Amino acid sequence: MRAARLYAPRDVRIEEVPTPEPGPGEVLVRVRAVAICPSDLRLYQDGHASGVVPDHPMIQGHEFSGDIAELGEGVDSPPVGTRVAVEPSWHCGKCDMCRSGHENLCRNIVFPSFPQRDGALAEYIACPAFSVYPLPDSVSYIEGALTEPLGVGLHAARLAGLSPQDSAAFLGAGAIGTCTMQAAKTWGLEQMAVVEPLAGRREWPRKLGADPVGAAYLELLDAALEADIVFECSGDNAAVEQAMRLARPAGKVIVVGIPHPDAVTFDSTIPRRRELTIIFSRRSRETLAEGVKLIASGQVDLGSLATRQFSLAQTAEAMEATAARPGDMLRAIVSP
Ligand SMILES: [Zn+2]
Ligand SMILES: [Zn+2]
Repeated sequence: MRAARLYAPRDVRIEEVPTPEPGPGEVLVRVRAVAICPSDLRLYQDGHASGVVPDHPMIQGHEFSGDIAELGEGVDSPPVGTRVAVEPSWHCGKCDMCRSGHENLCRNIVFPSFPQRDGALAEYIACPAFSVYPLPDSVSYIEGALTEPLGVGLHAARLAGLSPQDSAAFLGAGAIGTCTMQAAKTWGLEQMAVVEPLAGRREWPRKLGADPVGAAYLELLDAALEADIVFECSGDNAAVEQAMRLARPAGKVIVVGIPHPDAVTFDSTIPRRRELTIIFSRRSRETLAEGVKLIASGQVDLGSLATRQFSLAQTAEAMEATAARPGDMLRAIVSP
């Protein structure tokens, strides 16, 4: 099969590699759409993922969808040809975290595209059968790939323990911010504000506000708001303190974005005097079926999220476009 392999920072090569065989309990997926996540850029640009260095030329890509191409031993569904979305956080099901319902914190977690496990920027990938979920005809491959960032938003919204009367602010209106806003809106929230410095990205939350659920969005360029719950979705490490500044006393801050650089400093007076609860959210768990249903029912709109399409041969261009953070593109999509 053809695959995009990362040899060194910014050195991606399209190569012929052996097609993976689905092992027992696995399915082989013919990949149709891969969304490039800003978290993929760490490895692409720096050659390591938070200090973890690949021991082989890595295939990246963890937000993806495709068709079932083959079933491994002991797997009898979904049938070959089924269009599926994939939850890329593969837990062991046996450790103390899995047994206590924290599968996303599994001590033996496997995450395709995080070293040393190859990801989906290839024609095929073998996945555990439990990680795939069928897509109805009305849900596109691109929407299927975007169920992963939607899952991140749903998980963060669950951690926040939202009530409809809560006010919420979101820092960052990229794909994660947009997905988290849409997820939060399904809890019935009506007071939602977004802080986004890129003008092109401020249009999207306005569009969301026009849908029948009718959430009111404010555009906040300085900290003029006190929200019950603040979601930091930008991944900008200075935004963690900004999120605390936006939270009301006894409020909550949910850190959804991955702060970059990793080390965060903040004025401790802000969370201390306000007695804030700070929650760091880790990927997602058990969100795939719910995400697909929300898209299929129209409660969540990922189909009109601003995307730009690339072929597998253009993987490097898709990565560079993501690095450039254009206001009119929330995700680059590679179709292998
Ligand atoms: Zn991602
Ligand atoms: Zn586990």
